[in-house]
Amino acid sequence: MRVFKFGGASLKDPPSIRNMIDIVRKHGQPPLLIVVSAMGKTTNAIEQVFDHYRRTGNAGPAFDELRDYHHRIMRELFEPGNSVFGAVDLLFDRALQTLQDPHPYDAGYDQIIAYGELISSTIIHHLALQDGLPAIWMDARNFISTDETFREGKVDWELTQKKVSELKPVLADKIVLTQGFIGKAPSGLTTTLGREGSDYSAAIFASLLGARSVTIWKDVPGVMSADPKRLPDPVVFSELPYQEAAEMTYYGASVIHPKTIKPLANARIPLYVKSFDDPSLPGTVIHECRIPRLPPLVVFKDNQCLISCKVTDYTFISEEQISMIFQHLSSLDIRINVMQNSAISFSFCIDFRESRVSALIKELQKNFEVYYNAGLTLITVKNYDAESFEKYRKLDGVLLEQVSRSTLQVLVRSNPR
Ligand code: ASP
Ligand code: MG
Repeated sequence: MRVFKFGGASLKDPPSIRNMIDIVRKHGQPPLLIVVSAMGKTTNAIEQVFDHYRRTGNAGPAFDELRDYHHRIMRELFEPGNSVFGAVDLLFDRALQTLQDPHPYDAGYDQIIAYGELISSTIIHHLALQDGLPAIWMDARNFISTDETFREGKVDWELTQKKVSELKPVLADKIVLTQGFIGKAPSGLTTTLGREGSDYSAAIFASLLGARSVTIWKDVPGVMSADPKRLPDPVVFSELPYQEAAEMTYYGASVIHPKTIKPLANARIPLYVKSFDDPSLPGTVIHECRIPRLPPLVVFKDNQCLISCKVTDYTFISEEQISMIFQHLSSLDIRINVMQNSAISFSFCIDFRESRVSALIKELQKNFEVYYNAGLTLITVKNYDAESFEKYRKLDGVLLEQVSRSTLQVLVRSNPR
C-alpha cells in the first residue's frame, strides 16, 4: 500500500481540492491511505480564534470568517442540499462548544485546533464519494495514540501499532482518508503532534502499515537546495539520502516536518516529494542512497536570538558553568541551534519564543552578565563550496560564524538575500 499526504497549501481553494482528487484518481493506485491537513491557513486562523476566546470569552470575527471560507469552498464543489453542509456545520457548532470547555492553555489549544483537519477531511471525503472514489473517512485520533504532551504529543508506538493494524482489512477495498497532525491521549483528549505535523502522521501510518512509499504533494517541484522565495533558481534534488534530508530539517528547512524521516528510514520506506501543480515532474525521492557530491544546500532560519553569558568575576568560563546553562535550557525545553565559547563567555543561538527566552534570561542573570540580540537569521550552508563559503561569510552583520568540514553557519542581523 501507499500513503499520500496533502498539506494545507494543496487544499486551499476549490481548484486545488479538485486537483487533489484528480491526483488521487490518476496516481493513487490502491491500496491507498490519504492524510490531509487543514485547508489553506485554517490552523493559523483557529489559533487566532482560540486566543481571542481566551482573552474575551467569545470566538470573534475570525471564527465567522473561517466558517465563511469553508462555506464558499463547499458551495463551489457541491450542489445545495448535499449532506456535506450539515456535516460541516455540525463540526463548527462542536468547535464553538469545545472552546468553552475549561482546559489549561495547551490542552485547550489541541481540542480546538484539531477541527481544521476534521473539517477539511469531511469536505474531501464528501467530494471523493461524489466523484465515485471508494473513500472511507477515519478519525486519526482512533489510531494515533500519544502521551498527554499537548501540542507536541509523543507517539505511543505499541498502542498505535495495534490500532493501525485494524486498518489493513479496510484498505483491501477502500481508500482510507484520514487527518494529519492529530492524535489522542489515554484520557481521551485530543493531542497534536506539533505544527506542520501532518507529514509525521503520514510517516507513522506508513511505517506501521509497511507501506511501499509515502508521497508528500507540495506546492514546490521537490526538495530544493534553497527556499525559492529566498534564493533564485535553486536546484531540485532528484534523490537524497535519508540522513541528508533529516539534517536539512534539523537546520530549519521547512519542506518536510523534522520527525518524518526517522520512522521511514527505519522501515526503509522511500519518501517522494512531488509537485502538486505538475505531477508529471519527477520530484525528489528520499531513500537509502549514496550521492558523492551534493550541491551546497542553504537553509534560512529566521526569528533567532543570540544569548551570551559572560562570567562576572575575571575568571574563565568553567565546565560547571556551561553545564548549569545546559540544565536551564533542558528544563525549559529549549534547543540550541548553534553555540560557541570564548575565555570568558558562552554564546548560543535559539529560536526566539518570548516567554521561554525571558524565563531563561532571568535564570541566567543569577550567575552571569547576560547579553542578547533578537531578530536574527541563522543561515546554514551544508556541503558548501568555495563560492558559497565566501558569499555567506562576507554578508553584512555577521554576529557569529561556525565552520565544520561540511557545514558553514552564520548568524546575521537582518534577512540578507
Ligand atoms: N494543519 C497543521 C498545521 O498547519 C498541520 C499541518 O499542516 O501539517 O500546523
Ligand atoms: Mg497546515
